[in-house]
Amino acid sequence: MSSLDTLAFDNGFARLPGTFHARVQATPVPDPYLVCHSPDALALLGLDADAIHRRELIETLAGNRLLPGMDPVAALYAGHQFGHYVPQLGDGRALLLGEVQTPNGRGWEIQIKGGGRTPYSRGGDGRAVLRSSIREFLCSEAMHALGIPTTRALAIVGSDLPVYREDEETAALVTRLAPSFVRFGSFEVFYYRNQPEPIRELADYVIRRYYPEFAGLDEPYSAFLHEVMRRTAELMAAWQAVGFAHGVMNTDNMSILGLTLDYGPFGFLDAFDPGFVCNHSDTGGRYAFDQQPDVGAWNVTKLAQALVPLLSVEAASSAIQDYPQFFGRAYVARMSAKIGLPPAGDSVSFILDLLELLAAHRVDYTLFFRRLCDFDSAPGAVNAPLRDLFPDRAAFDAWAARYAAALRQTGVPDAERRVALRAVSPRYILRNHLAETAIRRAADQRDYGEVARLHALLTRPYDDQPESEAYAAEPPDWARRIEVSCSS
Ligand code: AMP
Ligand code: MG
Repeated sequence: MSSLDTLAFDNGFARLPGTFHARVQATPVPDPYLVCHSPDALALLGLDADAIHRRELIETLAGNRLLPGMDPVAALYAGHQFGHYVPQLGDGRALLLGEVQTPNGRGWEIQIKGGGRTPYSRGGDGRAVLRSSIREFLCSEAMHALGIPTTRALAIVGSDLPVYREDEETAALVTRLAPSFVRFGSFEVFYYRNQPEPIRELADYVIRRYYPEFAGLDEPYSAFLHEVMRRTAELMAAWQAVGFAHGVMNTDNMSILGLTLDYGPFGFLDAFDPGFVCNHSDTGGRYAFDQQPDVGAWNVTKLAQALVPLLSVEAASSAIQDYPQFFGRAYVARMSAKIGLPPAGDSVSFILDLLELLAAHRVDYTLFFRRLCDFDSAPGAVNAPLRDLFPDRAAFDAWAARYAAALRQTGVPDAERRVALRAVSPRYILRNHLAETAIRRAADQRDYGEVARLHALLTRPYDDQPESEAYAAEPPDWARRIEVSCSS
């Protein structure tokens, strides 16, 4: 374990030429206080558990001071937003403070979001509000605990500085960690500016740092594109299997490492609805839940296009063509694991029929799969807890009889399958109403206990936590009125 003073910074991205970023100092906030933190994320940096309470660290995460070795920059990028190319985005409120080299040889970039205006802020104030910071913090750490690739969240610091959205709110900064925050849009910006050199420079940097296995190949760039495609396809499979809707799958929010990036108006499915749109601002439903795999593919084509100056057209199109196969394989594997059938033969038709059934009866997605872990495959078994989730019991019975027969054919004892299924179908997800309750207490009463409690709960999503039964339940009626938009 190291202390704050001995953190070793080696700021790879900041050392790239000024084409890629702007050197910026954060705008300080008054009297920052710690709202919550993730001990696991702290440990990634090699810091001891007490470090988070040091005034020096809180001030640093608030953007009020720098630790020795930090060299803050805002990254330049562009991107396709809702299908349209926007030539200049960039970190409008995020700042990369520095890259910590940990004793185990991994580098972690430390980024604060909400640190004030940058050259890329356009009309924005450079700030983030407590509400959206809590959502990002909780979901980042929850996704990681679910086993889904994601940027991490170290902490939130708040300040009483007023920030104006639809209403007056207060400022907060969420600290994010990732090996890299480079996005698809980081390449697109130079493609549309007709500047092949920076594309090559950035690709070389990313390959050298994050895909060194491709560096010596004859066609490193096509191997790189293919790998990003694969990771993206598999990330989409992971989202679909757990019922996660991102909400703003613009190419500036697509990670070059295949991480879930930028938690804005995301949502987990409650009742299964393939057309679920979590973002209130997405009136056309472009980023509806069931569109995500296709949007992932479309986004990969935008990356491929940006890399065309480095690639043969054949290499670019082959990466794109392989996407459906990678997505399909990963999705079938994940869903088969959730139903306990081998990922071949009948399992695909079981999965499709089941999803249709869940959609037709608006069954709670997470509850269904968790209760399915305890399915009794004996002939004639009723499986009441599952059956009760269906308004139309007969529809469930017909499916359950087929399913029970298929399970019996596998020869796997129920008890054994139960253990395997419980490791892939979580009991606890970050339902919107849970986040909302934690946000209300934090914002209205300065009570951060519920944020900490939810965070602790969601770091063990696959474990039964009997004292937290209520957190696994279907959402209350008032949850339907929660509207989540891009405002953050
Ligand atoms: P997002 O929808 O959060 O991914 O943001 C899209 C773009 O808008 C990014 O370039 C952000 O940096 C920028 N942005 C979002 N909110 C703000 C804000 N309050 N101030 C400045 N830039 C912002
Ligand atoms: Mg973004």
